[in-house]
Amino acid sequence: MRPTVLDPLFAPVTSLEGVGPKVADMIEKVVPAGVHDRAARAADLLFTLPHSVIDRRHRPGIAGAASGTIVTLDLRVDRHQPPPRGNKQVPYRVFAHDETGEIALTFFRGHQAWLEKTMPVGEQVVVSGRMEWFNGRPSMVHPDHIALAGDEENSLLMVEPVYPLTAGLSAKVLRRAISQSLVRLPDLPEWLERETLGRLGFSSFAASLAHLHRPEEPEDVSPEAPAWRRLAYDEFLAGQIALALLRATKRTLTGRPLVGDGQLASRLRDALPYLLTASQEQALAEISADLASPDRMLRLLQGDVGSGKTVVALLAMAQAVEAGGQAALMAPTEILARQHLDTIAPLAEQAGLTVAILTGREKGRDRVDVLAGLADGRINIVVGTHALFQEPVVYHDLALAIVDEQHRFGVHQRLAITAKGEAPDMLVMTATPIPRTLVLTAFGDMDVSRLTEKPAGRQPIRTVTLPLERLDELVQRMGEAISSGQKVYWICPLVEESEELKLMSAEERFQSLRDVFGDAVGLVHGRMKGSEKDAAMAAFKGGTTRILVATTVIEVGVDVPDATVIVIEHAERFGLAQLHQLRGRVGRGSKPSSCVLLYKDPLGETAHQRLSVMRETEDGFRISEEDLKLRGEGELLGTRQSGTPGFQVARIEFHADMLESARDEARLILARDPGLESERGEAIRMLLYLFGRDDAVRLLRAG
Ligand code: ADP
Ligand code: MG
Repeated sequence: MRPTVLDPLFAPVTSLEGVGPKVADMIEKVVPAGVHDRAARAADLLFTLPHSVIDRRHRPGIAGAASGTIVTLDLRVDRHQPPPRGNKQVPYRVFAHDETGEIALTFFRGHQAWLEKTMPVGEQVVVSGRMEWFNGRPSMVHPDHIALAGDEENSLLMVEPVYPLTAGLSAKVLRRAISQSLVRLPDLPEWLERETLGRLGFSSFAASLAHLHRPEEPEDVSPEAPAWRRLAYDEFLAGQIALALLRATKRTLTGRPLVGDGQLASRLRDALPYLLTASQEQALAEISADLASPDRMLRLLQGDVGSGKTVVALLAMAQAVEAGGQAALMAPTEILARQHLDTIAPLAEQAGLTVAILTGREKGRDRVDVLAGLADGRINIVVGTHALFQEPVVYHDLALAIVDEQHRFGVHQRLAITAKGEAPDMLVMTATPIPRTLVLTAFGDMDVSRLTEKPAGRQPIRTVTLPLERLDELVQRMGEAISSGQKVYWICPLVEESEELKLMSAEERFQSLRDVFGDAVGLVHGRMKGSEKDAAMAAFKGGTTRILVATTVIEVGVDVPDATVIVIEHAERFGLAQLHQLRGRVGRGSKPSSCVLLYKDPLGETAHQRLSVMRETEDGFRISEEDLKLRGEGELLGTRQSGTPGFQVARIEFHADMLESARDEARLILARDPGLESERGEAIRMLLYLFGRDDAVRLLRAG
């Protein structure tokens, strides 16, 4: 059981003052809880760390404050000057002075009652914000802070932490929620060795959090500062302990040898219209050996987009079936599940295999049939979404489970899958080029196979950048492309504000392209019903539509080999990894492809560099390296800045040096106290809970 002292921290964020469902939705976008696939709770706010500070310590007095700088002024309020009645154009002004001069505090659409209350005439106030000089007169438009002098409670932070924000969420509301979470932090026992604390120069967990959220110097919020490093170390340690616990339970689950006669596999190979690449053969050999061995397989198949992971999965599944078992392939979305089915079914059926699909959408009779077929073993291969491993599904004999494109394959999922068979072998496929050290912590104790080459005959993708002003020209060129038989993906911008806006931008583009190209234009987005999405995808695949306008639902895995052009609108809003994923939708056939990155001027420095990287290379590893370098500029939408997949606070580019040490400490802890029952063990349990490793604690209880 979770120690009750932690309860307040594990309450949903809506339990915090000032956080209703709407604010909670926005908080959801900035907290790094996403790595755990669950709703945000107060504890996650502790780990929502500032990326910079606003230094308000500069108090030069009105006359000495340079235009454009952030200053704090100690002022006496002289008079209020509301705008003339009914004239909203004129701002509300409050005049105030210090010994060096007079300043106008300016408020557009100022709320009179509120302003009179916060700045009563004759009172001494502290005001902080950006100074402006206009025609020799000083002013401050919408100060960031106003407080009565001596008002402790509202006193401003002289070094103010700046958090990642999402549109609509005010910094004030977020800060308030975070400080309430800090208050909920109970007195915690120390879980790190004294030796570790000393060697790495760490203070306590609570002190480290306080340091980051209430910085005294701008350097305090750096990922390289001891406070941040301590939290990263804690996160590594929690991860390593969870892994070790999992490894211990795995040992009790020996697998079984899945040896086939190779018949199905060779029939499948005959049905393939191409030869496997050397890397595909290599990966298959590794997988095949794992399957045949009595130890349970836990393997990660890494391969850049388009490297051909699906066929490797299919051949692995064939071996499991040859050995008398069933195989399941799980995709992250329904579109992808159906697409896998479309690829796999014709080949598999030719080889005499029975294939079915199971997603949330199969209902009624169909569902009953599939469930029955899985239970009695009639179905050899099943493709689907996470529905595959949910409660009502019973397998006759699940021998191999494959998880595709899953960035969040955690302990939890692993257990759910394990429960469906007798220690089924597992293969996880990912296009994310994560370095080896990280694979270990993010995905667990897995072996790795890599697809390092693309199928032969692929042509490089020509990538060009184009300012939005030249849209008309582009539309005309797309007209030429489709009349020469090409197919075009048109990706609509990421809009962070809301789902509605995202939809609007896609629908608007759809309409405007339709005005030009009529029925040749299709649309697919996340809000469509499953069957509508299928229809849109099928129409594009079949060629009835030639331009497919899409939101990022197609980001991962979609395969239409004869699509040769991809246009990405507002490319400057996307992260490198995403751009790379999207571009990977084309260049899958033998025809030359191109990618058009439409951007809006003026480009920020980082966005400019990102687009240049895209023009220069198609190499996923290189792109992910550049991505790490360019991170943290705070101008990306739709991505969490904390960055490293699978982690809330640890960032590999700053903290990788501590991984080894955390691993050693984890080993030592468990060697001494495998059940985590000592006093230190209790403290370690707290650590596991705080970093969302509840599942690992559950493993302990299961024994
Ligand atoms: P990903 O690794 O991104 O999941 P897919 O499995 O979707 O890639 O494969 C991308 C495309 O390449 C598909 O159209 C597939 O049929 C094709 N393909 C896979 N292997 C080969 C190969 N050895 N030679 C030619 N085409 C291949
Ligand atoms: Mg794929």
